[in-house]
Amino acid sequence: MRQPCSEIELLAPAGDLLRAKTAIRYGANAVYLGGKSFSLRSRSSNFTLEEIEQACRYGEAHQARIYVTVNLIPHEEDFAGLPQYLRDLENAGVSALIIASPAIMKITADTIPAMPIHGSTQLSLTNALGARFLKERLHVTRLVLARECSLEQIRQITAATDLETEVFIHGGMCVNYSGRCTLSNRMTLRDANRGGCAQSCRWFYHLERDQQRLDTDPHLFSMGSRDLCAVREIAALLDCGVASLKIEGRMKTEYYVASVVYGYRRLLRALQEKNGVLSESELSAYEQLVLRGENRPACTGFLAGKPDAGSQIYVRHGNDSVSHDFLGTVLSYEAEQGTMLVETRNPFAAGDAVEVLSPGREVRSFRIRWLQNEQGEYLEKSRRPMARLRMPVPFAVSPQDLLRKKKEGK
Ligand code: SF4
Repeated sequence: MRQPCSEIELLAPAGDLLRAKTAIRYGANAVYLGGKSFSLRSRSSNFTLEEIEQACRYGEAHQARIYVTVNLIPHEEDFAGLPQYLRDLENAGVSALIIASPAIMKITADTIPAMPIHGSTQLSLTNALGARFLKERLHVTRLVLARECSLEQIRQITAATDLETEVFIHGGMCVNYSGRCTLSNRMTLRDANRGGCAQSCRWFYHLERDQQRLDTDPHLFSMGSRDLCAVREIAALLDCGVASLKIEGRMKTEYYVASVVYGYRRLLRALQEKNGVLSESELSAYEQLVLRGENRPACTGFLAGKPDAGSQIYVRHGNDSVSHDFLGTVLSYEAEQGTMLVETRNPFAAGDAVEVLSPGREVRSFRIRWLQNEQGEYLEKSRRPMARLRMPVPFAVSPQDLLRKKKEGK
């Protein structure tokens, strides 16, 4: 059954409080994040309980939900303190937990029975029978389907269960079966299934057969997957009746979160206005919009069928899909002077043509006439990150709007 665009959930990742707020400002209905305990992605900057509570308060004020990953694959020694942690999350105001382990599902259902449980994608669930089992025996209320499902399989599973289904629409893909890969464990002793993946599939290797080199430098061989971008599949996913569209990337930047959420939110609005039908040129424009936050080539993953050679990255790529540099975040706007204070990230100069990304409105452009540091000195260039610079802006902006610049030749 077709899911109305206005009701479908756009779910975004956040590695810290700033990114959680950014995702919500740019149009996410829900944000998922990890706490300091019992969560994968050990290298992402996970939230303290106090920060989770702050995220929940911000979410509540903006009609957005906060989901917390408790998706560790636990060994015997990993359970100490879990019941108290679960109670703390409930008290913080979390809307649901994302769990991979049947043991943690059972402890959650026993400890905080009212808490919705989302079955993590780490379960690699690809069929309705498994989905029903998780609902009946382990109180799962939503299933995050394996990335390895095609559109047709998503449709079948969603139709054959009354569980909500959640589907990845954007972000990193594993070249191995997601949640089942031990490449990183073998190569670096870092356990991918405990959040420590070293992304060994994306390294560059010499390719040999019978001690004969098959690759020629500098085109070393890699076996990483392109990232997922499902702009062209969103209308079909709405038809499948899925409840939530999920963006991957808890370790990605504030700019990635803002621009990807911004792009998909605008796409959903356009689909709503045009009854689910967009022209090829419109789809292509939304694809470009979404991919402005990406730094790797993209593909449609398993949605449109089995990925083939065109979905792989075999040789070095030059981040061809990145069209813009992220320049900084607006800290304040002084309406009377027509100026804004920006916290910088990448270099730029007076005279540059730049763009402002603001939630819910078209991208606006202007040329920087002058730059001033906090001491009031005029500068030709911004050279270092995290500097605070003032500049004139010909329209009103808001704190947390983002400034970017088209890369040369793009
Ligand atoms: S090594 Fe590659 S395929 Fe394996 S878990 Fe890490 S990203 Fe996925």
